[in-house]
Amino acid sequence: KAKKAGRNNYQIYTQELNEALTERVTMEYRLRLAIENGELLLHYQPKVDFATGLISGAEALIRWQTPEGELIPPVKFIHIAEETGLIESIGEWVLIEACKKAKELKEKMGRPIPIAVNVSPRQFKQPNLAQTIKNTLELTNLDPDCLELEITESTLIDDAAKFIQTLHALKTIGIKLAIDDFGTGYSSLAYLKDFPIDRLKIDKAFVSNLENDPANTAILKAIIVLGQSLGMKVIAEGVETRFQHDYLQSIGCDELQGYYFSKPIPAIEFEALLQNQLSKS
Ligand code: C2E
Ligand code: MG
Ligand code: MG
Ligand code: MG
Repeated sequence: KAKKAGRNNYQIYTQELNEALTERVTMEYRLRLAIENGELLLHYQPKVDFATGLISGAEALIRWQTPEGELIPPVKFIHIAEETGLIESIGEWVLIEACKKAKELKEKMGRPIPIAVNVSPRQFKQPNLAQTIKNTLELTNLDPDCLELEITESTLIDDAAKFIQTLHALKTIGIKLAIDDFGTGYSSLAYLKDFPIDRLKIDKAFVSNLENDPANTAILKAIIVLGQSLGMKVIAEGVETRFQHDYLQSIGCDELQGYYFSKPIPAIEFEALLQNQLSKS
């Protein structure tokens, strides 16, 4: 009897595995087509300077708009792109698109509106990343300080020396660099002083739990002091409430990003927000 149950478990297991595999292969196939058919697009989420209340830039966030009108968020496909290598072509597309937008915004607004682009671990490890970025800046005729790269802590896991070397190669170009989701990954405290980093982005987990877990105040304060002492700007992501906004401002956080100010929005709406600020100033 036990043997029979065992076999049933095995069958259920392989069935689940098959389903997962089929879903992955289907997703990979659909994603390839999506790239070819131009179904990827970027939304922009403003970053706001606490000191001035003005938009200081934006983060570009990828979406997949299917012909059926569905807007698929990156959590549903970025990991598949990463595993299959599709991320390399997606990443190049994101970079060009974001640089074009940054160029256009600078011309329209008469001041730089830096755009930040997320770089996945696999992309970061591409040997020609710095050259690709140089080429893209040239192609779009964009000043390097109008482009920022967001790199998560988890990227550094296997080879810290190589990681730091790549950061320096990128910094030489003159672009801005940020550590994304700071505080949640494999901790990089020991290395942080060696990073040529302009910005620390505090992970939204610390911000969203502020109200129910006051211990997060200690972490937030510590990250802000740490980053600023190393000459970095500190930005909080995932700011949703007035309370969170006011608290972060009171402890000297430099910038915020979150639904409290704006969700990620299409380029045209982001431009309207900027225009609106311009007309009020
Ligand atoms: P991330 O870089 O940490 O981006 C922040 C995520 O938090 C975004 O999710 C954003 O929409 C969301 N968010 C912003 N404000 C709030 C808020 O107040 N509350 C809450 N609950 N969430 C907020 P999104 O757009 O779904 O992106 C998820 C992740 O996908 C990103 O995390 C990033 O790791 C990845 N990603 C997005 N676009 C790209 C891309 O072009 N390339 C790569 N490699 N990864 C990307
Ligand atoms: Mg990011
Ligand atoms: Mg983040
Ligand atoms: Mg994240």
